[in-house]
Amino acid sequence: METNEWKIETKAVQSGYTPENGAPRVTPIVQSTTYKYNTCKEIADLFDLKVPGHMYSRISNPTVEVLENKMAALEGGVGALALSSGQSASTICILNICEAGDHFVALSTLYGGTFNLFKHTMKKMGIEVTFVDPEAPVDQVKKAFKPNTKLLFGESLSNPGTNVLDFDKFAAIAQAMEVPFIVDNTFPTPCLCRPLEHGANIVIHSTTKYSDGHATSVGGVIVDGGSFNWANGKFPGLTEPDESYHGLSFVETFGNMAYIVKARVQWIRDVGCYMTPQNAFLTNKGLETLHLRMERHSSNALALAEYLESHDKVSWVKYPMLKSDPNHALCKKYMKAGSGVLTFGLKGDSNAAETVMNSLKLAAIVVHVSDVRTGVLHPASMTHRQLSEEDQLKAGVLPELVRVTVGIEHIDDIIADFDQALGRL
Ligand SMILES: *Cc1c(COP(=O)(O)O)cnc(C)c1O
Repeated sequence: METNEWKIETKAVQSGYTPENGAPRVTPIVQSTTYKYNTCKEIADLFDLKVPGHMYSRISNPTVEVLENKMAALEGGVGALALSSGQSASTICILNICEAGDHFVALSTLYGGTFNLFKHTMKKMGIEVTFVDPEAPVDQVKKAFKPNTKLLFGESLSNPGTNVLDFDKFAAIAQAMEVPFIVDNTFPTPCLCRPLEHGANIVIHSTTKYSDGHATSVGGVIVDGGSFNWANGKFPGLTEPDESYHGLSFVETFGNMAYIVKARVQWIRDVGCYMTPQNAFLTNKGLETLHLRMERHSSNALALAEYLESHDKVSWVKYPMLKSDPNHALCKKYMKAGSGVLTFGLKGDSNAAETVMNSLKLAAIVVHVSDVRTGVLHPASMTHRQLSEEDQLKAGVLPELVRVTVGIEHIDDIIADFDQALGRL
């Protein structure tokens, strides 16, 4: 008895899977690449997209489908596609509507991996990007759009700068420019922010982060809000006949599911970066406690941010729920809590950051974020290392910046660990 009326907490636990009488209560791991049918015609109809169903696990799988349905329910979308990583979600969400000769606009405050993909790799494929400063005035942002611009991309809570997206501003720009607004909602998760309710058309996630939450599985997802009008003349790939499906038009055949169906049956069919059933099972386990974890990550992060702000060795702290934070008003407007990521800078040179990071005992130095365990990372020398110094600054990566992913341990133990490490300075 799945329902769209459920609260997000209930959806996190229950959505995506309704067992038949006598079936396993827990989503089974369907570790099968293939599916048995009685007649050739049934399989031919699957190939022709005439009927829904699984035929090969490069394209769909029952366990992965449970995760897809749950993510679609959590974000309030019409459908979802799970991928082998957040990077493949970022890649496919763009390639599904951009081809060589096209252009798109992205905010400059992005995860380093996304920035590299957009700036360098997409360029080699003939797709050009213009990065815009999120603070730039509306008419200046609009100047970045060209006749061949196909989308606007941003992060709801940027990694690592923790800038909160000004949804009203950028959704209005995308709407005026008649392009879809794609939002990476990895950090807030649908428990703290639902971009589709604030004008986004498509949402993506690295499920590697809070969705899994336990640092077990790399994965990604694309959720389609089903709200964009693809028939405005700019997206022939969705409206014109597809030769590889006997001249089918995605918009005519699948209506408001056109984008997400195309991503699966064209892109995943052809490049095959689909999520595995094991990873979908583990990620789905993570989602069952997402609402509880996000509350604790957020309350711990706020308490640690307040502690750090009061410490005399700390020169600045950035956390959107801090009253002193420049993003505080936007965070209050669009997010239920601040999530578990904060950044801070120490007085003195970058050796200070290294001393403190090396002295932490409970918090580990890890190339990861959004884990139940507290961890720290130095973006300038790690995740954002491949960016030029100028691009690092545009992404909000200062040389002294330490990123903390605050876990769900007891806050007293987390603060005590930072207190002893700061005492080494
Ligand atoms: C980690 C991350 C990605 C990339 O995801 P992977 O699962 O590591 O490929 C994309 N966007 C954001 C905001 C991220 O934090």
